[in-house]
This record gives sequence, structure tokens and C-alpha cells, in this order.
Amino acid sequence: MPFLPRRLTLLQNATLPDGSVVDVTIDGETVTRIEAARAAGVPADPGAALDPGAALDPGAALDPGAVLDLSGHVLLTAPAEPHAHLDKALSWEAIRPPMGDLVSAITAWREYARTMTVDDIADRAREQLLRMLGQGTTAVRTHVDILLGDQPLRGAQALVQVRQELAGLVDLELVALAGPDVPDSAVEAALDLGVDLVGGSSHLAPDPSADLQRLLAIAARRGVGVDLHTDESLAGAITLGEFAETVVDWTVTVSAGHCVRLGTVDATTRDDLIALVKAADIGIIANPITNLYLQGWEHPVSTPRGLTAVRELLDAGVRLGAGADNVRDPFNPLGRSDALETAMLLVTAGHLTIDEAYAAVSDGARSVMGLAPAGAVVGGRAEFLAVRGSSLADVTANAPADRYVIHAGRLVAQSRTTSDIAAPHLTESTVTA
Ligand SMILES: [Zn+2]
Repeated sequence: MPFLPRRLTLLQNATLPDGSVVDVTIDGETVTRIEAARAAGVPADPGAALDPGAALDPGAALDPGAVLDLSGHVLLTAPAEPHAHLDKALSWEAIRPPMGDLVSAITAWREYARTMTVDDIADRAREQLLRMLGQGTTAVRTHVDILLGDQPLRGAQALVQVRQELAGLVDLELVALAGPDVPDSAVEAALDLGVDLVGGSSHLAPDPSADLQRLLAIAARRGVGVDLHTDESLAGAITLGEFAETVVDWTVTVSAGHCVRLGTVDATTRDDLIALVKAADIGIIANPITNLYLQGWEHPVSTPRGLTAVRELLDAGVRLGAGADNVRDPFNPLGRSDALETAMLLVTAGHLTIDEAYAAVSDGARSVMGLAPAGAVVGGRAEFLAVRGSSLADVTANAPADRYVIHAGRLVAQSRTTSDIAAPHLTESTVTA
């Protein structure tokens, strides 16, 4: 029997990150009520939790299948992944690339990309998307390469297909990742196909300013948002300031991923750039696991971490999201497809608090992606991850596999594990005697 999505109207006995234990009422895709949980062990009357003003269907609320008991679970806003590369994911073992920096990863990837088919890309993208969903991520923004050669849209076709296949389980945004040698016409063809945003990596272009202006002009012409790989190096070009000044009056969603360089400039330059980012309301997306892997190979001593200036961005009130970027491909051989891994790295390598780190992979990521507020707030979209544990610190540290994933008010994934640890000082004969 396949596992089918299940409509939920009541989440019982859930522990929120502030330690309170609550019941959460859901009407359709929206949270309508949050109240202190009834005493432990007392089954709630689902009908009693109804808000008469919430226009719920009482019949649906009384369905025991629509009630989920989350005793012993921490209830979190479901993570969103603001920066993925589903077209590249899970290719590490097929490519067997040398370990190395961004340039060596791009070289290994381009060689492999020439051989890919739409079906091959769709198979890996689908598998990766479902892994992320199983861990709790209910919205993903993925970049997709506009490829060189005579079939530049293979990746875009595959991702549009996968988005259609998994509609209703996970929200998927697509960004056309156009290198400097990709013609405008190919980017526009990707948008025609259903890709949502314009992307690129102008800091790698021979003329970064010209490439930046070209990409922004395409987005302006088409009236779509922009998400650029920005200044992904420790010492290379700085395009973030010109990016911010160009889009300062834009009303579409605009975001900048990586911004590694922002973390390496002097404090005055950094603060001036952050002021421009804030004025333009650009969302910044940190990608700790991939930056930690790709950056710093040329520094065997005092190796820098290669993260953007997460603390200063938050303190300045800039919208900050964080993602994993690559998973098991030439750009990052590892990764658990789990936002709790990204949150853990933001604490360990970025020195954010645990609450700040989880916000970056959930509420912050959703804001950067232009999604509606979600989670345990009245009026929030019912996007939840419930993890077995006692607190946010506990689940971020241990990342238990036991999880429930709720998307648009429906249970779409669940994982339950058992483990047995031998009792000390006992043997089989003493127990059976
Ligand atoms: Zn990327």
C-alpha cells in the first residue's frame, strides 16, 4: 500500500522551540489556532479545538485520521532550501571527480554534462528532491544549468517535468543558471519553458560588470526575479555593490547566493556593501557546506571558512536564508539533504545562535524565496517539520531520523526508526534465568 498524503486538521501536544506545548489547528493550508495543549495523556476532543469563526468542516475535524499526536516531538516551520542544484545532485559517484576547488569542479562537471539526457537529469533530480522532502524540506529553489551545445535546455526540461510530477508534495522554484557564454536567447527560451528566475555567476565572467548588466537586463525585460551566484571566491571580483545599486527600485524578488567575498573584505567595505544590500532589499543566501568544501584550497595554513558575513548581515536587518547548495556532486561530495545539517554548520562555522541558524533555513529562506510566512503562527501556511526530541538544540545536535513532514496542511512524509542498545552487566542467560 503506497503512503498517501493525509489532510490534517489538528496537531496535538507539539513542543515549540520556545518550550511551550501546544495544539495547532489547521484549516486547509492555513494555521487558524494555537492553544496550550491539554494535559498529557488526555485525548483531545478534536471538535473542541474548532474555532467557530474559522469555518472549518466539523466532519473533517472529527476524523481521527486528521489528528496527529506530536507528543515528544519538536514542531518547527518546515525548512525551505533556497539554493539547490538538482540537475547536478547525486552525480559524484558517476563522475568520480578529483577533490578540489570551484574551478576544478566546474571543469569536471562540464565534461560530464555533455553526456546527460533529460531522463538522466530528471531521475537524479527527482531522487534528490524526495530525499530533501523526507528530511522535512517542503519548498526548494533550484538553479538549473543552461547548457552549452545544441540542446541547452535539457536540464530545464527535466526540472519542469519533475516539478509537475511532484506538485502537491513540494514547491519547486527554478532559476536559469546562465554562464557568460550562454546567449540571451537560450535564457529566454528557458523562461518560456517555465523557468521562474534569471540566474548566473557574473563574478566568473571575463567582464563581470557587463555580464551582470546583461543578466539583469534580461530579467527586467521579462519582468521576472533574479537569483545570482555572487562573488563566490575569497579574493576575486566584487559585483554585489553594482548588483544592489542596479536593482534598488525593483519590486520583484532579488537574491544573491554565496557572497563569499563579502566575508573577506575589510570591515568598512563590508559595511558599505551591506548598506547597499539592505537598501535594495536583496535576500542573501549563505551556503555553508559547499563553501566550506570549495573555498580555501589555496590556503593550507589558517584556511579561511569561506562563508559570507552572516552575523553582520543579520545585525543590519538583511533577509538571510541558508541552503546546502550542492549535494554529492563535483561541487560537494557529501551532504545529508537535511536543513538541520546546514543549521548546525551556521552555528559551528558561522557563529550564529541555534535559533538564528534554524530561522535561516526556514523562515529566512522562505522570505528570500518570496514565499508566504509559514509555521506555528495564526494565518501561517501549514508547512511543518516535527522531529522527535525535546528542544531545538536537541534536534539540531542529533538530527533524529524520526520525523513528520507537513506541506500545505497535509502529511506528506514520515520516518520512524527503532534502536536497541544492550543493557549493561546482563547476558542472555541471566535475563532468561
Ligand atoms: Zn550554487
